Amino acid sequence: MNAEASLIEAEPIFDLNMEDLSSVWLVILEKVKRELGEDICKTWFSKLRIADFNGVSLTLLAPTRFIRNYIMTSYSDSFIAILEDFFGKIKFSIAVEERQEQDLKHQTQEKQQLSSEGQITEEDIFALSLDERYTFENFVVGKPNEFAYAAARSVAESLKVLPESNPLFLYGGVGLGKTHLMNAIAWYIKSNNPERKVLYLSAEKFMYEFVKALKNKDILCFKEMLRSVDVLMIDDVQFICNKDSTQEEFFHTFNTLIDNNRQIVISADRSPSDLDGMEERIKSRLGWGLVADIHSTTYELRLGILLSKIEQMSINVPKIVVEFLASKITSNVRELEGALNKVVAHATLMKCEITMETTQEILRDLIRSSDRAVSMDEIVKKVAEYYKIKISDILSDKKTRNIARPRQIAMYLCKHLTPVSLVRIGQKFAGKDHTTVIHAVKTVEKLVGSDIDFAEDIRILSKILQS
Ligand code: ADP
Ligand code: MG
Repeated sequence: MNAEASLIEAEPIFDLNMEDLSSVWLVILEKVKRELGEDICKTWFSKLRIADFNGVSLTLLAPTRFIRNYIMTSYSDSFIAILEDFFGKIKFSIAVEERQEQDLKHQTQEKQQLSSEGQITEEDIFALSLDERYTFENFVVGKPNEFAYAAARSVAESLKVLPESNPLFLYGGVGLGKTHLMNAIAWYIKSNNPERKVLYLSAEKFMYEFVKALKNKDILCFKEMLRSVDVLMIDDVQFICNKDSTQEEFFHTFNTLIDNNRQIVISADRSPSDLDGMEERIKSRLGWGLVADIHSTTYELRLGILLSKIEQMSINVPKIVVEFLASKITSNVRELEGALNKVVAHATLMKCEITMETTQEILRDLIRSSDRAVSMDEIVKKVAEYYKIKISDILSDKKTRNIARPRQIAMYLCKHLTPVSLVRIGQKFAGKDHTTVIHAVKTVEKLVGSDIDFAEDIRILSKILQS
């Protein structure tokens, strides 16, 4: 029995406390992020709170009617598929938070909500989009990130802005700790030199504010606000590549601040010279200061990160499971954290110990995909070759048997060999619904059990794809 099945068949659980609920929500958000993308997750789903979950239905709260309606009209199908993929048959609803009912805790959330909708004001200049878990203390240092860490620390600690480290340019692949380090700089300055004004913005937010200021004819105000800070941090600057007017504004701000001896910290997913779509003069200027890259993680670093997260969670995870995660989830730290959260949430929900067996079950898609990533395109190609049919036929919705069966096999293999969601698999095959994919998977499973030749075909195909 696999992990999903055991969750489906479990008795509804009615006594989850707030902490359990938030780990459930964390797991769901991780999955939304993976399946629908980080932007959608951040803009819409991360604004929701979990109100109740009992194993068969999930109740969420949205801060505004707008957010609720938008999610319901645009993402409700994908969201339910994501939930069912993990929890089995489930219902969900989103209620809108009543203002009167909001206690202090939610007011903070509301404030963030308002500030992300309205103009940035001085008051929330700092609190804006910083994550309090992202501090230097919580950052585990190892060979791949020690230089970037040292660079970030020196910029945070230095009271004088040194031309040789201005700007500080941090770069590295996704999920390796850039945002964490930038937040850490901000928190450090906030607590040690509160008089220094720090502004942290994602490049996307920078563009959003800029465009809004243009629209509202507030541009002077916007410029003034930007130019009044002591430390300006722009995260994921690659986002404004090819966005000409935003780039222009960014460049002016950048120059003004540097000329006035203010600190700038930039992050990107690649080095300054690789920022295609960014003007040459900006590229070169970005590389003038201190450029530090974060390399892919090593086994030792992954182990260290896991141990540190586990310590913060105060939960018992067997050593062998920790080593297993560190050796198997190698893509980046975000995935690693996601895997650990998933294992911990499962144990919490099922009220059971974490074991090697359940871990392997729970993470089988993730692990298979990181062992060797097979793409849906490869699967389609190999299945078409194997059955001597055209790729375009497999991807069509032709219903003749000699095409429909291989299509079902391809769907089955996509489900088992890739981490892609049922919704996406359906989309790949002529925009079919995820229930069609489920049907295909079940049909193939049944045939594998009853037809030796068929089973052999599947075995050979899987082997071809995984070798
Ligand atoms: P990036 O901005 O480079 O895509 P993030 O800073 O968002 O990556 O990191 C992804 C996740 O991994 C975050 O939750 C972060 O706290 C965690 N993380 C990354 N590197 C480390 C590290 N060295 N120590 C502890 N946590 C880390
Ligand atoms: Mg980031």
